[in-house]
Amino acid sequence: MIYDIIIIGGGPAGLTAGIYTTRALMKTLLLEKIAPGGLVITTEKVENYPGFADGVNGYDLMDQMIKQAEKFGLETASEAVISISQSDRSFYVKTAVQEYQALSVIIASGTVYRNLGVDGERAFIGRGISYCATCDAPLFRNKEVVVVGGGDAAIEEALFLTKFVKKLYLIHRRDKLRASAILQERAKQNSKIEFIWNSVIDKVVGTGKIEKVGIRNVLDGSERGLNIDGIFVFIGFEPNTVFLKDFVNLDKEGYVITDSGMKTSCEGVFAAGDVRSNTLRQIITACGDGARAAVSAQHFVENLKGIDYKS
Ligand code: NAP
Repeated sequence: MIYDIIIIGGGPAGLTAGIYTTRALMKTLLLEKIAPGGLVITTEKVENYPGFADGVNGYDLMDQMIKQAEKFGLETASEAVISISQSDRSFYVKTAVQEYQALSVIIASGTVYRNLGVDGERAFIGRGISYCATCDAPLFRNKEVVVVGGGDAAIEEALFLTKFVKKLYLIHRRDKLRASAILQERAKQNSKIEFIWNSVIDKVVGTGKIEKVGIRNVLDGSERGLNIDGIFVFIGFEPNTVFLKDFVNLDKEGYVITDSGMKTSCEGVFAAGDVRSNTLRQIITACGDGARAAVSAQHFVENLKGIDYKS
């Protein structure tokens, strides 16, 4: 079986690409390591995706995208991609299970959570350290937690957490938040949130469960301990490009470089969404990228097959 297009990644970019390629009658397979949906499914409420005046739950939004793509014939497989190679006019996408062949590939593998990288962090993942408030907030009802980060994710998730916790310390390495103004304002008005500015966590301590964090002020170097029950980490993401190795050009942070048509440095390979070198990473931009990548891949495949297309 030779697919016209293989899409790697099942977030908003990959699923939008799948909707477009299947509607263009391209035989398409989408590979996603666990199940399609992407990181958006952990977002309680998406307020800035057009068309939903009252916001939309992240899981519900992605569930609709999956159903929409499958309706048009998108095939999906829950397999993690290990590598891509090229031979003659085909690409070979290798997973832990098998190898797939396609005429074109769309990389929409997104990003992975950035870790704090401090002593004790790994030992407490799932036992007090979380990267998903929607998933774990109910476990911290009436407890005291720390949220680390100053971007949209940290503030949005902190606001959600305040529905459950008794007290929330928001630790940020600077004295200004990166989050959008509306979220900043809501956080500052929330009496459960106490900001700890210019600070980082440099140690996580506990026996069996988290009991305390060590906090260091980055300006004067002073240190203090804080007794808490949980830590929620939202300090951004890193591109999920390990499987690409030297296959396409990446920027210095490891994101895939494309042109405006989502073409990568390898002809026939396109990239879309958060994995792409870009300044704005939102659901709406991922969807836009996915649509562009799909049309570019479709044209590439049709050219290869000698079919005329109208652009
Ligand atoms: P982000 O915007 O990159 O923010 C990461 C935050 O973590 C920054 O405040 C950064 O500090 C801090 N940080 C980074 N590395 C750190 C480290 N090693 N130690 C301590 N702090 C560290 O990431 P994000 O908030 O996850 O958002 C990612 C993208 O998704 C953004 O484009 C965001 O707009 C989007 N998003 C949008 C929404 C929404 O619109 N509703 C919701 C969630 C996410 P500095 O500020 O000092 O760099």
